[in-house]
Amino acid sequence: MIRTRFAPSPTGFLHIGGARTALFSWAFARHHGGQFILRIEDTDVVRSTPEAVQAILDGMQWLGLTHDEGPFYQMQRMDRYREVIQTMLAAGTAYPCYTTPDELERMREAQRASGLKPRYDGTWRPEPGKTLPTPPAGALPVVRFRNPLDGVVAWDDLVKGRIEIANAELDDLVIARADGTPTYNFCVVVDDWEMGITHVIRGDDHVNNTPRQINILAALGAQVPLYAHLSMILGDDGQKLSKRHGAVSVMQYDDEGYLPEAVLNYLARLGWSHGDEEVFSMSQFCAWFDLDHITPSAAQFNTEKLNWLNAHYLKQADNERLAALVQPRLAARGVTVSASPSLAAICGLYKERVSNLNELTDAAEVFYIDLHPKAEILAQHLTPEALPALADFVAGIREVDWEVAAISALIKTCIGKHGLKMPKLAMPLRVLLTGQAQTPSVDALLALFPRELVLKRLAAAVPD
Ligand code: GLU
Repeated sequence: MIRTRFAPSPTGFLHIGGARTALFSWAFARHHGGQFILRIEDTDVVRSTPEAVQAILDGMQWLGLTHDEGPFYQMQRMDRYREVIQTMLAAGTAYPCYTTPDELERMREAQRASGLKPRYDGTWRPEPGKTLPTPPAGALPVVRFRNPLDGVVAWDDLVKGRIEIANAELDDLVIARADGTPTYNFCVVVDDWEMGITHVIRGDDHVNNTPRQINILAALGAQVPLYAHLSMILGDDGQKLSKRHGAVSVMQYDDEGYLPEAVLNYLARLGWSHGDEEVFSMSQFCAWFDLDHITPSAAQFNTEKLNWLNAHYLKQADNERLAALVQPRLAARGVTVSASPSLAAICGLYKERVSNLNELTDAAEVFYIDLHPKAEILAQHLTPEALPALADFVAGIREVDWEVAAISALIKTCIGKHGLKMPKLAMPLRVLLTGQAQTPSVDALLALFPRELVLKRLAAAVPD
């Protein structure tokens, strides 16, 4: 049974890199009919906040990355970590160390001065035949992991290939602080072990932790999971992705009017490919997803492509769903939606022309507000030759069936009578109805409005 996990530290929002890690871990579990576990790594009590936990849960929910187990909170598992530390002390795979922070600092300075890599010197490390110093009275020790001295620790990274580190490079990691709290790498190890994680899929900023984690797992007699370290995501400009690049929080994409399926489809292609496929659903993605097709090189963000995907998914989206997404955006602007014109119908007509929900909201807003088109735009389109045709059109409104074909016929009659080309009448209609010169086809636009509202908006130009 495949078991993967997403293990964010709640020190900020769910960012794009984290969301991609979560997506790949989720899809790998889904592909194999396995389990996806959510674990909140909240042991950094200074930087972790409940708001950040909520932001992560909201982001995961918005994306629809559902977990099968959890969320587990590391702060609620402290007793268990302490127990494991006790077993390791008893087994001799960990030991108390009384070296003080001052002594450590002096040790490191001396090592640096002689051109050595700073590391713990093993003073308190038990060895066969070695006599340990006497613990200072009343001092509280840290607990260190007894890292193997020789050999290499190696793993076949499922993205990066084989990685080998000499144990001589690793000193004895502190696994519990003097106050007894377990340290970061240790909690990860205990959790990956006890949660039965088979595949650790995470960012490659954790590659340096992996050899230490593998050694501790081995000391615990635990099955070592397989590791897949994902390369980082660069911004459009090739620099490390940061706030400078605009939206980096997943929920900010929601604010900016992206649909979750567009963001997911976009993220899926950040460092993974399936032939030339660019547009696919999450069920398709889960069916295809494997770790073999993750590229080891960094992926580059491409906002244009994301915008293109968003426009694509907007066109596909059901009108009622779009209306439900646009309605709260209108409400946030203080605009109340009425039953007529129908918001779903407006969304249906405009979704072909917008690239995000905020643009769709802009388009819908003019239908529900007390519209005052700019004098300048009116002057440009309400030409003397247009006015008589417009007056005829207004006069005909009550006579026709209020639907696209009949409205279209009325427009044709009016321009025909005055020998005008279509835009001569269509443009004034557009600007009077919406304040904008660019709209979907004018007969369809007119049909969205209730007849009375059209009369009201045109009355401004054509008095009775
Ligand atoms: N909590 C770590 C982070 O947010 C991830 C740890 C892991 O995946 O092993 O970067």
